[in-house]
Amino acid sequence: MTTTLPQLNSATPAEALRLLDGLYEHSPWIAEQALAQRPFVSLAALKHAMVTVLAQAGVDAQLALIRAHPELAGKAMESRSLTAESTNEQQKAGLTNCTPEELAHIQQLNAQYLAKFGFPFILAVRGPRGTGLAKREIIATFERRLGHPVDFERAECLRHIHRIAEIRLNDKFGFTPTVGNEVWDWHEDLARHSDPGFAERGELTVTYLTDAHRACAADLVAGMKACGFDEVHIDAVGNVVGLYRAGPHPNPLPEGEGAKTLLTGSHFDTVRNGGKYDGRLGIFVPMACVKQLHTASKRLPFAIEVVGFAEEEGQRYKATFLGSGALTGHFNPAWLDQRDADGVTMRQAMQRAGLPATLEAIGALKRDPLKYLGFVEVHIEQGPVLNELDLPLGVVTSINASVRHQCEAIGMASHAGTTPMNRRRDAASAVAELALFMEQRALADGDSVATIGMLQVPGGSINVVPGRCRFSLDLRAPSNAQRDALERDILARLRAIGERRGITFTTEEVMRACAAPSAPAWQARWENAVVAQGLPLHRMPSGAGHDAMKLHEVMPQAMLFVRGLNSGISHNPLESTTSDDIELCVCAFSHLLEQLSTEHR
Ligand SMILES: [Zn+2]
Repeated sequence: MTTTLPQLNSATPAEALRLLDGLYEHSPWIAEQALAQRPFVSLAALKHAMVTVLAQAGVDAQLALIRAHPELAGKAMESRSLTAESTNEQQKAGLTNCTPEELAHIQQLNAQYLAKFGFPFILAVRGPRGTGLAKREIIATFERRLGHPVDFERAECLRHIHRIAEIRLNDKFGFTPTVGNEVWDWHEDLARHSDPGFAERGELTVTYLTDAHRACAADLVAGMKACGFDEVHIDAVGNVVGLYRAGPHPNPLPEGEGAKTLLTGSHFDTVRNGGKYDGRLGIFVPMACVKQLHTASKRLPFAIEVVGFAEEEGQRYKATFLGSGALTGHFNPAWLDQRDADGVTMRQAMQRAGLPATLEAIGALKRDPLKYLGFVEVHIEQGPVLNELDLPLGVVTSINASVRHQCEAIGMASHAGTTPMNRRRDAASAVAELALFMEQRALADGDSVATIGMLQVPGGSINVVPGRCRFSLDLRAPSNAQRDALERDILARLRAIGERRGITFTTEEVMRACAAPSAPAWQARWENAVVAQGLPLHRMPSGAGHDAMKLHEVMPQAMLFVRGLNSGISHNPLESTTSDDIELCVCAFSHLLEQLSTEHR
């Protein structure tokens, strides 16, 4: 018999606790304390209540919970003394039928892990889709996590414990994230296309207009048609565009005015050896919403235009945001003659893809903002914040402004043995001093970030004081003014360090992008949508650039972030998200559509 939420909400405390029995291994106190917050509006709200209880319980209680778990494929499994829940999970992951060699390897990992961390390794073996990780994935994860720092790994174990509880709770309530699973599968399926050189290694790389890229576009066209979009086409720069027409408007529209359109989407190209969700989530989530509308034969008083942007990452050509830029009328004509690493011009690549490759056709893609309500974009967070907070969704307040410099410090190379410390002009030490200042300065803002991502001593030797040092600056902040102040202080410190140390610095600005604050009304719609799922509201800036940044130039925009697993790692094959989180995201997107419909009544 499955439990229902109304049943849980109205049960006596003892009965309610019995209904949640076994969610957290030998630790009923978590459910017990969370139940004090009844009634819950959703399973997501209940899950979050339990997350909060554990977060506030302190390190000792957290460690006790971790230690209450059995070892993976350990002695408890062999002697069949696991809880029913654990047996089921270890069985599903195939851990109950390991070969003697596999078992020996896992037990060796268990011993190493316990010796380093002092608690057992915990992994939600049913994985991000709830259907079970393969044994080799489990072993690879085990080996990888052995390298983590202790405090990080403790938090990671707790996150896995919450994931285990989430799946156990779903089972109790007979809840399957059906739409989330379907959208999760779409990502898996699209990831089978990868550029040569990467595909062979099982890596995902899809760069602009390669065969793999065109295969993705073809799949998206077919997928949109299957979802019930009315018109689907590939445009002059290779974007996949799907339109779901508006229904009859409830009120007569002014003379000559048609129903407006909500624009949404994200990119389907990837970085080299990237993740499956970056960009693609923002195409698939609205596709799932349209599929639901179409299945229910429902039309909204506005049209929905979903665009799979062909190019955002600037990998094959230096033409970042080419796809979304084409919609705002920003296409640099010089790009057509740019050559890729094999000498193929963009014009040739376009012609090979059957695109017109003319400025006229590309120019025609420019959208008339008056015909649009605005632009919304869903994206995987690509950072650790939501993962650390154990929150599935976050609302973006602003896409950060950024500025980049390529710099050089020139001092004087000299003998590392004979040059006294007070007579050196050490270029690397000067940059090191700057790096430490940048750390402090950005931290003082709270939400600024400053990074020296490239740092080289060209032609350096172990016994030579560095005479030159090449380095990069990447500075970002939620507003242009905050970024400018950050940049001003860092460049002033750079000059001061140079004067004091007798070092000459050169700096060359190579990129500057304005902040794209979310339009308040659109941000509010995302906020309502998140709260409606029973989730707490978390607002955050976006540290990374997104297609919404381009659309921001011509129409109001706002973004919704979805939590990424593995510390939110992105641009990496470990990028991952659960089908439960995707399901919540689809629900939030549908809620935003409903709000817009109501506003138009
Ligand atoms: Zn992206």
